[in-house]
Amino acid sequence: MDIRLLVPEWIRTLTPYPPGMPIEELERELGIHDSIKLASNENPLGPSAKATEAIARALPNLHRYPDGSAFYLTRRLAERHGVSPDEIMVGNGSNELIELVVRTFLRPRDEAVMADQAFVIYRMVTQAVAATPRIVPLRNFTHDLEAMADAVTSRTRVVFVANPNNPTGTIVRRPVWEAFLRALAGRQLMVVADDAYAEFVTDPEYPDTVVCRGEGTVPVVTLRTFSKLYGLAGLRVGYAVAPAPIIEALERVRQPFNVNVLAQVGALAALEDHEHVRRTLAVNREGMAYLTREFDRLSLAWVPSSANFILVRVGSGVAVYEALLARGVIVRPMDGYGFPEHLRVSIGLPEENARCITALEAVLAERRA
Ligand code: PMP
Repeated sequence: MDIRLLVPEWIRTLTPYPPGMPIEELERELGIHDSIKLASNENPLGPSAKATEAIARALPNLHRYPDGSAFYLTRRLAERHGVSPDEIMVGNGSNELIELVVRTFLRPRDEAVMADQAFVIYRMVTQAVAATPRIVPLRNFTHDLEAMADAVTSRTRVVFVANPNNPTGTIVRRPVWEAFLRALAGRQLMVVADDAYAEFVTDPEYPDTVVCRGEGTVPVVTLRTFSKLYGLAGLRVGYAVAPAPIIEALERVRQPFNVNVLAQVGALAALEDHEHVRRTLAVNREGMAYLTREFDRLSLAWVPSSANFILVRVGSGVAVYEALLARGVIVRPMDGYGFPEHLRVSIGLPEENARCITALEAVLAERRA
């Protein structure tokens, strides 16, 4: 028997998410050391010490299953957003919640509308349930919400909006967001506002999608994560804020122990570490100012970003990425996202940003020579 015939057509055509190589392997292969990673929009300060202490205290209990309802974390998050606990679901990263929404609400051949250059997971999980991604191009590196509303059909059940968007860092502002929700009123669908980078945004017109839910229009599912601001990407914790009937439906599909013991206590402790949050935002603000200044000095075009990363145009993205890699600076090439001339650079510590610029300047000079 050909085992490949067991694989449904919609899985056969699925391209897996490309895993990065462990840094240790990469360094061995390239014969380098002390490389810096500015590739995954992580917190360059590391995790909150309050989180790591809470995790250390929880280690003796690892023989116990986690609290399957994430009782304390759910309540704390509900309080934080001014909603009821039955409007919160905690997940194994916000990635899990994206997948849960799709598995819960999309039937085969239903449609999900998403931007062409937005977080790739939306497309993958949609295809994995035999539903159809309807792809709408960005306009000026930003979600084109008018075009996305126009792309909605009677088969559309979910519309994904990453705000800020990854990999462009751009946001949609409150008037556009509210008009979008009004345009969708009466449709049988929900909007997923993937606000993974929300805490970094300083624009006064940024919509808090929990507050700006557009009551009476369409249901909104807001996704947040502990992977970015809170520096806990390795723990895998994210959460959804959504109307209770949506959470109730997601509960039917969720695995009982989706959020592990350490993740629950680490996330709770991180929420109380205001100093870590303050320092993270300061490092990001200063790093963003430095990098954009330096890109200007190097005459490189960049996309104004509200997040903790920035898209910069360097010419041949893959070639520059590889040359930077050889110098121990790991960034993300964007050819897979349809930006072959751009790199995405996560904001690092001051010394990491400086090293990135020094290497970039040398690489660009070499390529011109
Ligand atoms: N949404 C967006 C827009 C992201 O960039 C990411 C992380 N790369 C995620 C969701 C997933 O985050 P996590 O699963 O770590 O919470």
